[in-house]
Amino acid sequence: MLSTDLLICGAGPAGLGAAWRLNELNLHNNCHGEWLVVDNAETPGGMAVSPEKEGFTWDLGGHVLFPHYPYFDAVLNEVVDNWVEVKPVRGAWMFNRFVPYPVQRNIRHFPAKELEQCLQGLAATTTDSSNNHNFEQHLKASFGFGLYKLFFEPLNFKMWGEHPGKMSASWTQHRSGSKSTNVPTVDLQRIKNNIANNIDDVAWDEDTRIRYPAVGGTGAVWQGVTSRLPAHRIKSNHEITGINLRKRIATLADGQTISYKHLFSSMPIDKLLSCLTDSPELSAQAHLFCPAAVDVVGIGVSGECPTQLEEICSLYFPDNDIAFWRASVMSNYSSTMAPEGSWSILCEINSGSSKPATGNPVTAVIEGLEKLGFVTASKIISRWHRHIPYGYPVPTLQRDKALIEIQQVLESNGVYSRGRFGGWKYEVCNQDHAFMQGVEVVDALFTGAAEVTYPTPHLAGQNSVKQYNPTNVNRHATLQ
Ligand SMILES: Cc1cc2nc3c(=O)[nH]c(=O)nc-3n(C[C@H](O)[C@H](O)[C@H](O)COP(=O)(O)OP(=O)(O)OC[C@H]3O[C@@H](n4cnc5c(N)ncnc54)[C@H](O)[C@@H]3O)c2cc1C
Repeated sequence: MLSTDLLICGAGPAGLGAAWRLNELNLHNNCHGEWLVVDNAETPGGMAVSPEKEGFTWDLGGHVLFPHYPYFDAVLNEVVDNWVEVKPVRGAWMFNRFVPYPVQRNIRHFPAKELEQCLQGLAATTTDSSNNHNFEQHLKASFGFGLYKLFFEPLNFKMWGEHPGKMSASWTQHRSGSKSTNVPTVDLQRIKNNIANNIDDVAWDEDTRIRYPAVGGTGAVWQGVTSRLPAHRIKSNHEITGINLRKRIATLADGQTISYKHLFSSMPIDKLLSCLTDSPELSAQAHLFCPAAVDVVGIGVSGECPTQLEEICSLYFPDNDIAFWRASVMSNYSSTMAPEGSWSILCEINSGSSKPATGNPVTAVIEGLEKLGFVTASKIISRWHRHIPYGYPVPTLQRDKALIEIQQVLESNGVYSRGRFGGWKYEVCNQDHAFMQGVEVVDALFTGAAEVTYPTPHLAGQNSVKQYNPTNVNRHATLQ
């Protein structure tokens, strides 16, 4: 039987964060933690890989790197040499026009009747949050009935595959992306001012830029991270199928067993619970977690990007006659994402508990792009499609209570379930959050430092930059 101090399940950003940090502590902090990563995929990177087809590079859904953590930014600087800087222009496509993000602050672009409907709704909003028990109540109370019906309800149903009334509102206050909360708030006076003075109230300013690898898509980051870790400690193509919680032994699909002191797991938490061989009471709770699945469809098109999309990173589509809820113009992230003389667009169709997948996603995407006037079918030179069963960790009403109880039992048995689906907290499930969850668990186990990101997501997007203070960071010395 193999044996290790830290068994890491998954070589996505979370698992690689744990590996990176323990490798670093071993090299510089007189730490002697043995570690091993086991991943069932062929190549490391998890959902942040970037497949190529016919000269086009795709991400598994639009991927934006947010600068929350100096530690993570230092890792990015080390592992990728060339970056491009992108102006993060995003918005919604509604009423056959572009409405800048966040839509709720830019309703001046709505037709007169809908604008009036939204203003009336906004005038009736309340700051009393005592009745906001679910996401629907929160949205109606914060933005009014007009915006809820025209934008929030249809878009969120398309994205989560679930009715907002069946989802929790707790995550909306956190900041997974920009300086604003996940669902930015509004101020009626400010909106009226925007209308009166024709102001676009956007979430970025002229100088705001996001970084993106110049070549190789998002996956270039994780190839770079993997290449700096000792290869013999990463076991690809191996799936963990059983875990004996009390004996601390994991079993792989081929029958091998690995004993561990601590297990860092980034497999989806429902799968982890189902894997437990000695804890039927925990396994029985797997059904509490239902993901939204995503069909990501990439379309490569010959010729110039249409003028309406020239500057766009991503667009939301609340209308039901368009199958996808979001599209990202990948060739605007980096020109190397598409061969010369062409451009590329990536669309996401989600399905979930209340919205089953229907029809052929590629056909539906092409129909939608043609209807919008973005693409002419005869100019399509490449089609790429991937079905991702775990796309978005839906924040259900029972999520917070279930997570507290389940994580407590897992941790008391040496298991740390973290990352996008291991932790199941949408508010902290991007690449930077996932990587830092790995780093922070290793620090907690091997240096005694407190975790920040997972237990206190509200600090991850605001103050954790100041609070997190890794010791002895000497990035170049981690090269092996
Ligand atoms: C549609 C979509 C959009 C996204 N958008 C963004 C974005 O804009 N910005 C951003 O920063 N991030 C984004 N992400 C998140 C990013 O891709 C990563 O998913 C995220 O960082 C979480 O990483 P992770 O390591 O927790 O999980 P994952 O990336 O899912 O990695 C988990 C790994 O565990 C492995 N695994 C699972 N079960 C087992 C098992 N039983 N045995 C062995 N191995 C197993 C999997 O193969 C996988 O490699 C997006 C993801 C998706 C899907």
